[in-house]
Amino acid sequence: MMTSDPISIGHFIQGRALAGSPDRMGPVFNPATGEVTGQVALASETEVTAAVQAARAAFPAWAGTSPLRRARILFRFKALLEAHHEALAARITAEHGKVLSDARGEVLRGLEVVEYACGIPEMLKGEYTEQIAAGVDGWTLRQPLGVCVGITPFNFPVMVPLWMLPMAIACGNTFILKPSERDPSPSLLLAQLLQEAGLPDGVFNVLQGDRTAVDALLQHPEVDAVSFVGSTPIARHVYTTAAAHGKRVQALGGAKNHMVVMPDADLAQAVDALMGAAYGSAGERCMAISVAVAVGDVADGLVEALATRVAALKVTQGMDPAAEMGPVVTAEHRDRILSYIADGVAAGAHLRVDGRNMPVPGYPGGFFLGGTLFDRVTPAMRIYREEIFGPVLCVVRVPDFASALALVNDHEFGNGTAIFTRDGGIAREYVAHVKVGMVGVNVPIPVPMAFHSFGGWKRSLFGDHHVHGPEGVRFYTRQKAVTQRWPASIAAGAQFAMPTQS
Ligand code: NAD
Repeated sequence: MMTSDPISIGHFIQGRALAGSPDRMGPVFNPATGEVTGQVALASETEVTAAVQAARAAFPAWAGTSPLRRARILFRFKALLEAHHEALAARITAEHGKVLSDARGEVLRGLEVVEYACGIPEMLKGEYTEQIAAGVDGWTLRQPLGVCVGITPFNFPVMVPLWMLPMAIACGNTFILKPSERDPSPSLLLAQLLQEAGLPDGVFNVLQGDRTAVDALLQHPEVDAVSFVGSTPIARHVYTTAAAHGKRVQALGGAKNHMVVMPDADLAQAVDALMGAAYGSAGERCMAISVAVAVGDVADGLVEALATRVAALKVTQGMDPAAEMGPVVTAEHRDRILSYIADGVAAGAHLRVDGRNMPVPGYPGGFFLGGTLFDRVTPAMRIYREEIFGPVLCVVRVPDFASALALVNDHEFGNGTAIFTRDGGIAREYVAHVKVGMVGVNVPIPVPMAFHSFGGWKRSLFGDHHVHGPEGVRFYTRQKAVTQRWPASIAAGAQFAMPTQS
């Protein structure tokens, strides 16, 4: 196998590539081989200040650019994303490890937000009421916030930034992306494509880094809003710190998504759904199903069918077209997942398929794990309570629908969930009463399309707004209400009471 020297991955500020300081760099791995393929810059406060200054300086002109012109740049960006779809997907697989077909899907789901944002003139039209009183008109309009920051996780290095930046920019804000330091390269290709599309310098900036950069951004007086996606402890930290510094903030956190399988469900369909939703992207999705709730007598058949399929999963490097599951992102993350599996065994869960010790021929240094299946998991176990973020599916057996609903509602996370059933009444009950932000009926990963908005409940989201779609427009703008009267209609004399005459 060919190896080459690690590449240097820097920042993109004010329309220019900027190398990082050699004394603050972090390794980037190819998870399939375990090799260090890059060294990413980790910003210090000086670089944070440079990025914020660039974004601040670009704001007035960009906010003053008509929404139609902004949309035209996004149209060109969309075409460039399509032209570079494969290159983006390959960069994702190289640093994240997910299989190439999944990486292509990730790019497409991000592209859909760009397509939605191209319609921004329609979304910023505002509301107008003629004659709210005699000779008086009123209207509301939405204006951009200023400098917006996006802090993103490793698991979707293209899609999650694209949840944020097209909406923020379309609304007239400038933007600083702080990508995950695990897979930072795709962000630089996004920056290059935005520049080629005609975006003025400083409107979009990439600041590579770790917690030092994040904390400096959260406290910076010139940052107006922060969008975060990542794990719950960090989401909480970002939410409280940014809010304490007077910023608008939305912080999406972790998940433990349950799929309820009712006794009347189509078993083959449910098993297919669980395989893709639990083991796709090696379980490193915030919408992955990590708990199957087997209701009544469906459990034995479900577990047997799953066990056969999980043991047969094709695990190898993501560029192999036969791969169903690639490696996990780092050796450290693999060790964390291994410790959860050991914990589940010690707690008495039935380990039906053991994904530990999964040698992949030709890739001895890769961060691979096989699919793991636990049966008879209970709510008290750590493998049930905590997010593992790996290819580990827990089956919890419950007697009836009411217990399934209570189980899901008692969990601290509320990102996504699904129910598989043929009974419309039960499905309707579930949709109405489940305390989760995104719900699928016979759909295992109910990720909303770009023209709806994405977000969870409970400890899966801190803040008031979901991301992209109509909620994205609300988050990235603030409303101004105007009441107008022209001199000819002004009544004589001062009024000291609340106006009540219309
Ligand atoms: P993470 O929380 O470790 O990192 C997310 C971002 O925060 C990164 O940019 C990272 O550099 C930064 N960060 C990490 N530690 C920090 C600290 N101590 N202080 C300040 N910033 C810090 O998350 P991850 O491991 O990259 O991603 C996986 C997590 O993201 C999972 O929990 C997953 O559920 C979650 N996620 C949630 C959604 C959602 O929509 N709710 C979507 C994708 C991923």
